[in-house]
Amino acid sequence: MISESDVAGWVGRIAADSTRGRNTPSPELDRVAQVVAAEFSRLGLHGDRAGLVQRYRLQTRRVLTARSSVEWRRGGVELGRTPFGPLVGFAQGTVPSAPLGGPVVLLGGAIDPLAIPADRIRGRIVVWAADFSPAGAAKADGISATLVAGAPSGVIIVPEDDGMVGGLVAGGSADRVAPPVPGLVFTALAASERAIGVTAPWLAAAIRASRREKKLVFDSTGVDAVITMPDSALGTTGPSAPNVFGIRRGDDPKLRDQYVIVSAHMDHLGVVAGPDSIMNGADDNASGTAGVILLAKALSQPGFRLSRSVIFLLVSGEEKGLWGSAYFTAHPPVPLDRVAALVNMDMIGRGWRDTVGVIGREFSRLGTILDSVAAHHRDLKVLPIGDVWPDQKRFFRSDHYSFARRGVPSLFLSSGYSPDYHEPSDSPDKIDAEKEARLLRLVAHFVIELANREGTFR
Ligand SMILES: [Zn+2]
Repeated sequence: MISESDVAGWVGRIAADSTRGRNTPSPELDRVAQVVAAEFSRLGLHGDRAGLVQRYRLQTRRVLTARSSVEWRRGGVELGRTPFGPLVGFAQGTVPSAPLGGPVVLLGGAIDPLAIPADRIRGRIVVWAADFSPAGAAKADGISATLVAGAPSGVIIVPEDDGMVGGLVAGGSADRVAPPVPGLVFTALAASERAIGVTAPWLAAAIRASRREKKLVFDSTGVDAVITMPDSALGTTGPSAPNVFGIRRGDDPKLRDQYVIVSAHMDHLGVVAGPDSIMNGADDNASGTAGVILLAKALSQPGFRLSRSVIFLLVSGEEKGLWGSAYFTAHPPVPLDRVAALVNMDMIGRGWRDTVGVIGREFSRLGTILDSVAAHHRDLKVLPIGDVWPDQKRFFRSDHYSFARRGVPSLFLSSGYSPDYHEPSDSPDKIDAEKEARLLRLVAHFVIELANREGTFR
């Protein structure tokens, strides 16, 4: 079915130096998309009227720093206004089209992502007393993902060290490429304690005090904030980026208008400074890209039956903030309420040889179905386990989340982080193709089960 040499071949091709890290957008990413589309059409898969490649336009935009500020209010009365500057500014995420407001909550102390009361984040402006020391930084991604999932109105990151603010603000203030549909619904500013102290001394004092706490601080401050941050487009047309999808039509007239989607992101981080400058992204995520292609090939063979239709999907812009999957779910080729299940794969080529991490079990029946499929295929020697990175909040950090938040039952498969995660050393020679081939054979049986089983998977 799917062999070790198939995996090694496709990973090697997608993560080759010649694809220069598959940045979104880049000509090399476009080339990879063309290669995938050609393979899908060779396999007899079809797209929609526009074909197998869906493109989304990107715009270059600039935040108007001189007109931007955070206003602090109590009971409608302005207490002070912190202007943007070198130590206060846009850091990442979505630039809002209108001012953002909400009650201010202070997040600080010893922050465990799992202890944050996620149900009390929505609509708030979260002031995060962030710890980017090596010990704290290990939790930062999990904390961000928890905040993303809680849908705050905005987040103001306040690192202990002013130098760090400079870095975060510089990244955000540069002209940036923005997608038409925001990926992560998250607006983050960065600000120094010192700059906040000038106009909101009581808040700066509370931030400082929270850093000495040995437990989680999640306090409402009794104050509201309004973030005003206009930006403008530099020109009306910008570059664009591709998603590729191919549909394998179902064989059952009653079920073929329902879909199972198998997805992975094909983009990575491009080229960085340094001697080994190309970010090959072999595990992240040429491994998943190869997986989707090989599953498409395996499941397009004549002779076996799939009742539902299956969509093989490769998105871009994941590393920038789930851009491609956000666009695809906003402009799906088939109605999303007909998508019975989505299985996403990200980083499946390294790590344990005999298990696979399964994330999102608590949100649908898909995890249990995968367990029963694996129990029928013990010869593959891959045991689905749970989420062994709960504090990383990984369910909210890859493309399945774009689908899950629109109600599609979604499951995320990953073998976890390698020592070369987001380093130029994530290269094809380190992929365990034998293990990945066995894992993909299990996923193939899983997708067949999802395509054929009656009922819903909620
Ligand atoms: Zn990834």
